[in-house]
Amino acid sequence: MVTVLLVIGGLGLIVQALIGLSFFISCIWEKELRASVFAGLQFLGMFIGLIAYLYLIWIGFFETKIGFDVLIAGYIAAVLAALLLLRRTAPNPKALKGAKGIIAGDVKRQDEREIMFARNRSIQPGSEQYKAFYKEHPEYEGFDAKRREKGGPLGHPGIIDKPHQGANVAATLASLSIPLHLSTPDAFKPKTHPEFKGKKIEHSPEEVTERVKGYTRKLGADLVGISEINPLWIYSYRGEIFHENWEDWGKEIKVEHEYVIVFATEMSFEMVGTAPHTPTMIESMNNYAKGAYIATQVASFIANLGYSATANHMRRYDALMVPLAVDAGLGELGRIGYLITKELGPRVRLGAVTTDLPLIPDKPVDIGVEDFCKTCKKCAVCCPSNSIPLEKDQTIVNGLLRWKLNAETCFDYWGKIGTDCNICMRVCPWSHARTFPHRVILELITRNRIARRLFSIMDDIFYGRRPKVKAIPKWARFNAGNMDGNSDA
Ligand code: SF4
Ligand code: SF4
Repeated sequence: MVTVLLVIGGLGLIVQALIGLSFFISCIWEKELRASVFAGLQFLGMFIGLIAYLYLIWIGFFETKIGFDVLIAGYIAAVLAALLLLRRTAPNPKALKGAKGIIAGDVKRQDEREIMFARNRSIQPGSEQYKAFYKEHPEYEGFDAKRREKGGPLGHPGIIDKPHQGANVAATLASLSIPLHLSTPDAFKPKTHPEFKGKKIEHSPEEVTERVKGYTRKLGADLVGISEINPLWIYSYRGEIFHENWEDWGKEIKVEHEYVIVFATEMSFEMVGTAPHTPTMIESMNNYAKGAYIATQVASFIANLGYSATANHMRRYDALMVPLAVDAGLGELGRIGYLITKELGPRVRLGAVTTDLPLIPDKPVDIGVEDFCKTCKKCAVCCPSNSIPLEKDQTIVNGLLRWKLNAETCFDYWGKIGTDCNICMRVCPWSHARTFPHRVILELITRNRIARRLFSIMDDIFYGRRPKVKAIPKWARFNAGNMDGNSDA
């Protein structure tokens, strides 16, 4: 009996030490100096514990009365810890309702003309649209005029990395050209290829759902989900114009489709790690370009099947992407204001295709984001413009119970540094690279409340409450002297 207990205990300690070792290796691979030191110490402690255990077996300590009691106490502690960390916490009913779960009052559909990008990119000073919009919204005019003087939402792109940012801005703009090319009416709402004109390719909803998801993944999406469209998430009026199609500006956006395919592409851990420097902006735009590439082809595929479909990407949205993604089961809305996914955290960019092709919807998920965000607050602490609320609980804004990011102050900061910042995405504990130990931690925090509290604290200890910027990849570095990854801005 004692021998069996000793063997099982020994195996448990070996597994624990191996997980500790894998975390140490992971931290080195992540190039996280502070985390590597702590993980190294943690592994050393586990290793010494294992050696001490073997030594106590060798000297016959566990055959004594006191030794046996220590062994049993160890077992009880281990079983209790496992029960506390592995038990599934009661589900969050709000999360399981999807984006509907945050509705707490009357919700007005978002007017795209009021979005900061539409105001600053599309409305030209002196135009009829300018006069009409600012007459209705005088509160924005002063801020927007200042932003335009600075060069728009990004100010002077890349100014944070001056004087060596040129090629990184050039790469960013190169990616940006793709969504722009794919935002002409023929591209975002493709016509059926003549080969298929007048024909409908019939499939069962199950089969076509599998095909559409498979094709979307094949094109490069990392996550794909499907939802029925809640009209509340469709913009009410068009605000973004890129091809001088001014007759569209201010036009009502009709809810013409029943289903939406939402997909996410991964933003690289390495590039996001450099936020707020220019490589993170290259990565954002590169993923917007991927989103346009994927959405346009999926819409075209569906058009060839004989159905109507509209691509949604950064140069042409009909809808708000985050609530659609929540409804499609890709993740939950975080304090950060982005979607947080189990697989990749907030390190994603979203795209979508709306359609009348009958599909099988996915179910929203409860992965514990709301609970985790209530105590974590790391994004809010690290935000240089204080744009993310620090309060524990959400507030109701436009009938929605959420942490409301202050988009105006956030974008003013973008204008100041000339990139899309992304510090909040970089520091979020859900953004870690998906190495083996981080996957284990994610399994625990998605199912258990105590694990959320424990690993939120451990994240602060290992990575710091204000994690450091990572070194810029060599190919994107222009001045190794001043961009070695040790400043936030
Ligand atoms: S992008 Fe930067 S400024 Fe904006 S909310 Fe995130 S951390 Fe704050
Ligand atoms: S940093 Fe923390 S509080 Fe902010 S979104 Fe991520 S988990 Fe939530």
